[in-house]
Amino acid sequence: MFDFANILFAGPCNARCPYCIGRQIDPRLSVNNLTEFPPRNLDRFVEMIIKHEIRQVVFTGTTTDPQLYRHEARLLDFLHNRLPADTQYALHTNARLALKKLGTFNLYDRVCISLPTFNAGTYMKMMGVRGVPDLAAILDRARVPIKVSCLVNDDNVAEIPEFVAHCQLLGLRRLVLRQLYGERGEWPIIEGLSPRGEYRGNPVYDYHGLEITRWDFDHSESTSINLFSSGVISETYLLAETRI
Ligand code: SF4
Repeated sequence: MFDFANILFAGPCNARCPYCIGRQIDPRLSVNNLTEFPPRNLDRFVEMIIKHEIRQVVFTGTTTDPQLYRHEARLLDFLHNRLPADTQYALHTNARLALKKLGTFNLYDRVCISLPTFNAGTYMKMMGVRGVPDLAAILDRARVPIKVSCLVNDDNVAEIPEFVAHCQLLGLRRLVLRQLYGERGEWPIIEGLSPRGEYRGNPVYDYHGLEITRWDFDHSESTSINLFSSGVISETYLLAETRI
């Protein structure tokens, strides 16, 4: 019935993205929980994961990066002991702490890194902070599969062909290009590239061994249960509609 169980952290972030999804969410849902263990209402959430036989648990954030959570490794360990052995754990991160917390990073089954550009100026515009994470070093030292998720907007759309080529050169295997929630842009991924399939309603391309999915949140067919840092459990990820 559900594909994912998302554990959503909240608190000050190490980036300041102008389009941060946390800003679209009722602030009462995003209580700072970076030092709390366990996250509020975790027991109920674990019960629901077991009841619904969900095998994908995701550490992500509404207003912060999950690697800023002080008890990241402890929570993974706790869940490993409570959930079925075939449960998979994924991290969704901006990767600003990936190399510093590499040991914990490598505890997940897979990681999705949000990275919109390799260009320092564009990164500053889109992430609000300086210092592009070193994707080459992360790929080199990671022991888990990595996917890059790239938000495409006016700031970086012209760079996309170069960005895609560089990702491929670094040996990345999976890339997702996505738009802002609610936006409809028409941009070519790479001249002449045509879809070779689809994933949950989104077109998938192949670029010399790099799988590229053009993801449209609005059309996504994934379903999830979500534990907000306030303890609220919701089946709605984009929470304009979520009630406290
Ligand atoms: S990294 Fe994520 S949580 Fe942090 S400011 Fe950017 S969008 Fe928001």
